[in-house]
Amino acid sequence: MYLLYLDGSGSVRNPNERHFVLAGVAVFERQIYHLISEADNFVESLGIGAPGDVELHASLMATGKRAPWKGMARQKRLDTIEQGLNLLNSAHWSVKAFAVIVDKGARTTGDSVEYAFEEICNRFNMFLFRSASKNQDIHRGLIVMDKSHYENTLQGLAQRFRQQGTQWGKLHNLAEVPLFVDSAASRLIQIADLLAWAVWRRYEQKDARYFDHIAGRFDKNKGVMHGLVHYKIPTDSCHCPACMSRGWV
Ligand SMILES: [Zn+2]
Repeated sequence: MYLLYLDGSGSVRNPNERHFVLAGVAVFERQIYHLISEADNFVESLGIGAPGDVELHASLMATGKRAPWKGMARQKRLDTIEQGLNLLNSAHWSVKAFAVIVDKGARTTGDSVEYAFEEICNRFNMFLFRSASKNQDIHRGLIVMDKSHYENTLQGLAQRFRQQGTQWGKLHNLAEVPLFVDSAASRLIQIADLLAWAVWRRYEQKDARYFDHIAGRFDKNKGVMHGLVHYKIPTDSCHCPACMSRGWV
């Protein structure tokens, strides 16, 4: 089984922000323990508290507004985000990244979070289907999300997708409705948070410093970055890796 740990970045309601990002890290069941251990060791090496009390949360790390990041020099906090992203970059080859970037100006109807969730479910389902065809071995998928942000909005939607299908078809490879957990207790949701923030920063602020660390991790097949989707105004030209790989420039 593959687990897809999801988290978002950017505010759907804030008119000063143009983008909303939903991003996920897909981890095969046998790699979960290993990646969590690596992340725990990394947090312990920071020496800023008991590892269980330190949550990797990119926006708090970037602003330094709260403990344990408060008081740490800005450069050190930003370096720590990069080092956290390197956990993903150096993970086992089977660990894949997914992200959907929604330009809110391109959505005239519907909810950006729901759209991004439907799209990322579909991308994950396609990845599972492709791995099954390649390895002749069917792996199911389970989505794990942060309880506080999305449980109320996405629980019912996920159930409907499984039962009635999305606009792209049924999600045959997803084993269950998403599991909602407390991000403070899930190191892999925290890595998804760093990923979502790195992608948001690339699109919202044109700062690719963090994105570049994990750009090679997105699910890709035959030159197309299936794991990275940029939903934009169709007439806007874009040279991002997602659009370039699909020839949407
Ligand atoms: Zn693009």
